[in-house]
Amino acid sequence: MKNYLTASISESAVRHNLAALRSLIGERVKLCPVVKDDCFGHGMDVLFPVLTECADGFAVAAPQEALELRRKGCHGFILCFLSAYFDDFAVQDELVWQEITQTVMSKSALDSIRAAAVRVGKTARVHLKVDTGMGRLGVPSEQAPRLIELICETPEVELTGIYTHFATADEADRSATFRQLERFRAILPVAGKGIRIHAANSAATLDLPDTHFDMVRPGIAVYGCKPSDEIQNSVDLRPCMSVKAKLIAVKRIPAGGCSGYGLTHVYDRDSRVGVVPIGYGDGYFRNLSNKAVVRINGMDAPVRGRVSMDQMTVDVTDIPNVQVGDEVEVISSDPAAPNSVENLARLAGTIPYEITCHIGHSMRHELVE
Ligand SMILES: *Cc1c(COP(=O)(O)O)cnc(C)c1O
Repeated sequence: MKNYLTASISESAVRHNLAALRSLIGERVKLCPVVKDDCFGHGMDVLFPVLTECADGFAVAAPQEALELRRKGCHGFILCFLSAYFDDFAVQDELVWQEITQTVMSKSALDSIRAAAVRVGKTARVHLKVDTGMGRLGVPSEQAPRLIELICETPEVELTGIYTHFATADEADRSATFRQLERFRAILPVAGKGIRIHAANSAATLDLPDTHFDMVRPGIAVYGCKPSDEIQNSVDLRPCMSVKAKLIAVKRIPAGGCSGYGLTHVYDRDSRVGVVPIGYGDGYFRNLSNKAVVRINGMDAPVRGRVSMDQMTVDVTDIPNVQVGDEVEVISSDPAAPNSVENLARLAGTIPYEITCHIGHSMRHELVE
């Protein structure tokens, strides 16, 4: 990991977002932040103490992420979205032993969890995942009642929850989401009482109170980004990631000169160009070449030429007195800034999730106020 790149994660922004989500769902509904992929690149190492104070549990993708949370000292509810049946017995057993709530979406997943419960000598807790139309993980809704029966006939496995996941909750057209919700509701009576019901990702948490049920699973909203531009809720979310680097060189390039691979940008005036030590190898997307800006001394410096693996060049001609060592704000936590996560995602033709994951995985994190 490079010692000169740092993602600063704002504690107050995360707390603010969690409080905003809490006020939307009320006190009765459980708040279960999704912390998969190292908190979407924001760094579990710095965020765990903050999240653990405000959350009613955590949701992760991989079994290893769940076990890592236990090692960090999380004693409460942890839901693991993916199953462990390709993992070795040691991992499968540890999940049961550590009381991680696992997802069941098929008979074979149930069988492997049951086998682990028998080996460990402890009841395994599971949530059933129902595919109500997303077509990804989950038992197809028609087969859900049969799988519920099978789980209930398995004494080593306790069904403690049932959930589904929406494919288009972040789109203005609600019709597909409402169809999913209807299919989900139809299964609930079969699951019986005393079972935790959940469906809402960030988009549904923000815009569809009918989907809150007993618990919500927001991811991106916790980290302060809207899941898409079509979200109606005007709640104030505060992006919590900013990334800073320092200029490692400043040089003059005469009119007609170029910078970067492919010589894709020709300077049309005598220019001053700064070299920033970040590139696509550090998660700064190459297709931001000639599109994005960074900020230096509060002013825009356009990215000129192609982004390389570990460097890129920015035009600093219009910024007075720029010197080697000056701070470069690569990503701003101000949602209105041209180098906000959301704007960079737009420019790169992707979603904020992919920006924070890529950048965040390549550098260390520090918690700031
Ligand atoms: C990733 C994920 C979420 C969180 O989605 P956001 O859009 O980030 O809120 C919720 N539920 C499941 C099953 C997921 O995989």
